[in-house]
Amino acid sequence: MTRRYVEVALPPPVARQLTYGLPTELENEAQAGALVLVPVVQRLLTGIVLGPADIGDLAPGKIRNVEQVLDTSLLSPEIVELCRWMASYYVAPLGSALMAALPPGVKLNSNRLVQLRETNRAHDMPQTAPDATSELDARPEAEILEERVLAELGRSGPLKVSTLKRRLGGKGLEKSLRALRRTGRVDIALVLDDRRTRVLHQRRFRLRDERAARDAIAASEKRAPRQAACLRHLLDHPNAARRDLVEAGFSAAVLKGLEQRDLIEGFDEEVIRDPLAHIESGPVTELSPTRDQQRVLDVLEQALDAGSFYPALLHGVTGSGKTLVYIRLVTRALAKGCGAIVLVPEIALAWQMVRRFKEHFGDQIAVLHSQLSVGERYDTWRRLRRGEQRVVIGARSAILAPVQNLGLIVVDEEHDSSYKQEDLESSHPLTYSARDLALVRGQRQDVVVLLGSATPSLESYWNASTGKYHLHTLPQRVDDRPLPTVVVVDMKREPFQKKQRAIFSRDLRLKMHQRLERGEKIILLQNRRGFAPFITCASCGEAVQCKSCRVSLTYHRAKAPQTRCHYCDFCAPPPPVCPSCGSAELRFEGVGTQRVESALLEQFPGIRVIRMDVDTTGWKGAHDELVERFRRGEADVLLGTQMVAKGLDFPDVTLVGVISADTGMHLPDFRAAERSFQLLTQVAGRSGRGQRPGEVVIQTLLPDDEALRSASRQDYEAFSRRELEERRQSGFPPFGRLLVFRWRGTDEHGVEQAAQAGTAALRQGLDEHAILLGPGPAPLALLRGHYRWQALLRGQSVRHLHDMALGAMPAMREAAKHHATAFTINVDPLTMM
Ligand code: ADP
Ligand code: ZN
Ligand code: ZN
Repeated sequence: MTRRYVEVALPPPVARQLTYGLPTELENEAQAGALVLVPVVQRLLTGIVLGPADIGDLAPGKIRNVEQVLDTSLLSPEIVELCRWMASYYVAPLGSALMAALPPGVKLNSNRLVQLRETNRAHDMPQTAPDATSELDARPEAEILEERVLAELGRSGPLKVSTLKRRLGGKGLEKSLRALRRTGRVDIALVLDDRRTRVLHQRRFRLRDERAARDAIAASEKRAPRQAACLRHLLDHPNAARRDLVEAGFSAAVLKGLEQRDLIEGFDEEVIRDPLAHIESGPVTELSPTRDQQRVLDVLEQALDAGSFYPALLHGVTGSGKTLVYIRLVTRALAKGCGAIVLVPEIALAWQMVRRFKEHFGDQIAVLHSQLSVGERYDTWRRLRRGEQRVVIGARSAILAPVQNLGLIVVDEEHDSSYKQEDLESSHPLTYSARDLALVRGQRQDVVVLLGSATPSLESYWNASTGKYHLHTLPQRVDDRPLPTVVVVDMKREPFQKKQRAIFSRDLRLKMHQRLERGEKIILLQNRRGFAPFITCASCGEAVQCKSCRVSLTYHRAKAPQTRCHYCDFCAPPPPVCPSCGSAELRFEGVGTQRVESALLEQFPGIRVIRMDVDTTGWKGAHDELVERFRRGEADVLLGTQMVAKGLDFPDVTLVGVISADTGMHLPDFRAAERSFQLLTQVAGRSGRGQRPGEVVIQTLLPDDEALRSASRQDYEAFSRRELEERRQSGFPPFGRLLVFRWRGTDEHGVEQAAQAGTAALRQGLDEHAILLGPGPAPLALLRGHYRWQALLRGQSVRHLHDMALGAMPAMREAAKHHATAFTINVDPLTMM
């Protein structure tokens, strides 16, 4: 009988494809996508089967066998094929693409687990570990090591290879493990890197006795004012979380002091990781589709039934009821036995939508979110692969989930930048766009791909305009509710307050008072966190910068005042004097969410505010809790950064205020205007979604800005027409394609050299179909102590750009290595920072 062969991809550090033979007993298990153990030199490594291999004229005797199948049901053959496409499109090693398709947390080679074979446990065990240093022991070293391994396992139970390595030393270990496995004395299994399965706790504090607390306040007012203040705080906020107390300015010492006086006690509360676990599916109020929704559904349902590739853009204004369209389509897909993938930008921010899906589909739907433990995600992957669950709703990585018999992919808020992870510091070899991957996967598997947004990305809109995608629109809000009316306020014309620019214009103040009186709700957007984004010197005018990032430090009010860098972990008390000139006259300038919050409390006595930004949503579930509290009516105002603009659906919000529309508008990035338009339109869209009509006040110093003007009219057509014209003239996407090359390292000169040499290599292959810009320092030229350079390759055809990049790649990698510089390529970059 002839031996069959498979191609196996090995992740880094090997990062290559190798051919292995299949022993007959493994022939049926080692399908494409299976995880297998294979020998590489002396070691046993985990790899992923790519498919059958043809050995050509290699001598079969030279080809080693797959040793073991670890998991047959993690990736599916379609996913393996999709990974091949990813690797080639994003110019990345196939191993990295396959790793991206594994459930997050499964890291192949760091996590092999060694355990004794069941039959070995009872007998045949060395009673004591042989002493490796004993000179009397004349047996071969390998044999001694094998026995020591068995002894360790006998004593400690199953151990990771890395642990064994630490205990016994790495020399010869892999070889011994192989021998032990071969001879059936141990098993090797995959383990998950799961630090998060532990129960999470949050520390809270409560008063022991309210009366005693009140007495103590009176008695401590002078002697221990912080303690008194903390007691008062706890009277207002029973069972406050430690982090909230700290945020409110009470130090650990204050809390400890009160504990010692027996006035308060701390307790741990379990933090529930899955905020959806308790949601029951059941009789849900089935809304009947509006005429518009039905019109869209008629076509899309037909496309679903046809079972061929149908790429479509659903352009529906805010509040037009896109969610109902998604839910109906998923229902239809399930009815015909198909699976579906629903992508949302960030689960934490799309929680309302997830909830609706969960209500409708109950256990049929798998929810993938960052709060799941690695083990839970692994199980989800397997359930999907086996077809036990048919639908998945999740963030970016869910596009690679092994959903069986796929019929539908929905990408909600398709314009959202979180679909492409572009970590500024990342040296990860692969950053992919989940939205673009959705279309590729959809095409290969003949499914309906629906991209939904009120503010589509210009790429998708252009594709819809040129007929590459089908365009479906929901031009009206549900029940003909009007879009909110928008007022743009020129803050240059507002009177100053205490020599400072007012935070709230007269118009916004007035409208807020009306809402407070009527008991309606308000959302305020200020897209900057902290108290003041700048600390500037009144004498020399310099802004205080982070030493490792070359960006200005933000002033935060916490238990003690702090300056923080929003790009690295730097955090320190504010400098007493200007670092440049020594002047003591430092000013805190600009407006962050904390300053807005304190102005609210000062100017609207009794107002209840929920602040939602990175600083108040640091722990898992915090975001949901804040949103739920706002829904329950525990606050008048939801104030926050761009988080408040995304997806929220509160019928009683009738006023949205944008404190300053100008943050981020003029970044050196060709997408700045598009982002600004999207943010303003989306946040405006949170107003007037219920029975009562909504209003929006946008405050700005640049009232004539075009993106802002179009957003204020909710006029996507006007915005896109203008912006597309500009992109056409400049040759930027969607009219040209981009590749960005980035160099990063601690040695400024080395980074520059690597960038120059790399770019020179690129330039050699350049022709008239492409333009090379740079190299030069990136706008964020220093980040976490790393100097950053970049170059941009632009052209009409992405294939052509690929070819040029591939041609120069060896020289570019060589140059980067020579100058100890990290080097990455980003295809279709979203940010130019
Ligand atoms: P979008 O995502 O397009 O901004 P949503 O899907 O959140 O809009 O819907 C906006 C609001 O309209 C929601 O409160 C939703 O419950 C309601 N809604 C949607 N479709 C209908 C319908 N057919 N009948 C009544 N209410 C609807
Ligand atoms: Zn100064
Ligand atoms: Zn920094």
